[in-house]
Amino acid sequence: MEDDEGPEYGKADFVLLDQVTMEDFMKNLQLRFEKGRIYTYIGEVLVSVNPYQPLPLYGPEAIAKYQGRELYERPPHLYAVANAAYKAMKQRARDTCIVISGESGAGKTEASKHMMQYIAAVTNPSQRAEVQRVKDVLLKSTCVLEAFGNARTNRNHNSSRFGKYMDINFDFKGDPIGGHIHSYLLEKSRVLKQHVGERNFHAFYQLLRGSTDQELSALHLERNPALYNFTRQGAGLSMGPHNALDSDEGSYRAVTDAMRLIGFSAEEVESVHRILAAILHLGNIEFVETEHNGQQKGGLAVVEESLVAHVAELTATPQDLVLRSLLARTVASGGRELIEKGHSVAEASYARDAFAKAVYQRLFEWVVDKINSIMAAKDRDPRRDGKDTVIGVLDIYGFEVLSINSFEQFCINYCNEKLQQLFIQLVLKQEQEEYEREGIAWQSVEYFNNAAIVELVERPHRGILAVLDEACSTAGPITDHIFLQTLDTHHRHHPHYTSRQLCPTDKTMEFGRDFRIKHYAGDVTYSADGFIDKNRDSLFQDIKRLLYNSADPTLRAMWPDGQQDITEVTKRPLTAGTLFKNSMVALVENLASKCL
Ligand code: ADP
Ligand code: MG
Repeated sequence: MEDDEGPEYGKADFVLLDQVTMEDFMKNLQLRFEKGRIYTYIGEVLVSVNPYQPLPLYGPEAIAKYQGRELYERPPHLYAVANAAYKAMKQRARDTCIVISGESGAGKTEASKHMMQYIAAVTNPSQRAEVQRVKDVLLKSTCVLEAFGNARTNRNHNSSRFGKYMDINFDFKGDPIGGHIHSYLLEKSRVLKQHVGERNFHAFYQLLRGSTDQELSALHLERNPALYNFTRQGAGLSMGPHNALDSDEGSYRAVTDAMRLIGFSAEEVESVHRILAAILHLGNIEFVETEHNGQQKGGLAVVEESLVAHVAELTATPQDLVLRSLLARTVASGGRELIEKGHSVAEASYARDAFAKAVYQRLFEWVVDKINSIMAAKDRDPRRDGKDTVIGVLDIYGFEVLSINSFEQFCINYCNEKLQQLFIQLVLKQEQEEYEREGIAWQSVEYFNNAAIVELVERPHRGILAVLDEACSTAGPITDHIFLQTLDTHHRHHPHYTSRQLCPTDKTMEFGRDFRIKHYAGDVTYSADGFIDKNRDSLFQDIKRLLYNSADPTLRAMWPDGQQDITEVTKRPLTAGTLFKNSMVALVENLASKCL
């Protein structure tokens, strides 16, 4: 060990602790932290403490210190982990992966960026243009993804509101030749509403604060975010606490430049801006019931028609159709006859919100797909036999407990249970097996296995997601309340599940609304309010058709499913919860295949 890791810095590896108690663990962590040592190993696992201030730990000099070294040759560092993954990949021609976990604000995304920077810095000694291009896109795409997928929360000014798994493909020389980003469950409810002290996605404020006056007037926007329902809550909040680089104005230019540099066309960037503007206008649309006049039944109208005109212009769709898709929906009655069914104020508001959320989600997914199409590995060397090797980096939302926890937190925390399962399987089991193999006296370590919690969520038929899907597919007025009652019936004896109904004396839960899961990382009380809606995640086919028929090719490309006619839409689409579960199962399988 180097002299810059002397005994005064505590133990650089928790494995070296004389006795493993929580107290000793924390003491060692604190001692190291106070001396600027934010990283500590537990064997091959790196523990990181967020310093919340710039430390002189990164950059070319530091990278050079770690390049080509063994894991324990230098003080614990992200670079050492990235280096180990890279070496394993290169020497053994095996896929590897790096999993980053931790609660929101712990420093996961920053860590992933440092590791990407390390990999970019140590590869491509031959400076091949294609390799350089791939590295540029890998590094530059981050700020674009963050503009559309990150937001200020009370935990983190730049919190990722989506999960990210990134594969980097390497050729036989160990140079990056491509990459692929997989995104998971964007928290799209944020488009509509944010908690006090939080903001909508950065992109909206960047557009309002960074556009020129001409650009704004072409979008029919004014500069002040307080004028729009979707951005009012966060209007007084800045993007970050640090400096001008964190400003929405500066970021707008940086993001727009990065998009152009990566390979988005000027037309595409303009389309993106128009789509963001359309969402802001949508958010201001309100509905009124029109007077009964004589014999005629009262109808529904929008308060401000000009907003509908703006949405129509910005989405390149006919104004009368935009209006119609907000005020009514087409339903197939009996055979193939189509009738128009007018909305109530509540239904119209629901349709408007679903419209706004869906447009934003498709936009985000399109941005990710676009980056992927640019990064896709090409120009493969024909002399190469065998496949490319891959390093995967997972930066996914950490365990989250808010004052009110909804469907999104439920999904996020389920994801963390899945990763914990993987972690248990990989690290703990592997170590025990190794000790047994080598015949070392080994006291089996008791660890908490969270399999029962994963089962509680994902088990077929009775698991929470299955019960929720059942509630969503039942015709008639199934309420969140009934969903909760069904959960209570199925899980009343489950050690990790409770609710006020089952535990009437526990006043921290509300009757008929809350249930609690004892997660491995702590207890979380969820409000069942809105679970059914968020899981069903329905959008009227009229709106999909409207956008599919847009004259804007970029927007149109985001809505291939709008091609279908209402009478052709027979299959019930998979619910948000089931889609998420499927993506988590696939993710864990993929990670396990790279680690085992
Ligand atoms: P997470 O992705 O885990 O939610 P982030 O990676 O976004 O958290 O980190 C939150 C904030 O903490 C960052 O915006 C930054 O201000 C600070 N931070 C994180 N890691 C570091 C680091 N290594 N050095 C200095 N500040 C950091
Ligand atoms: Mg993050």
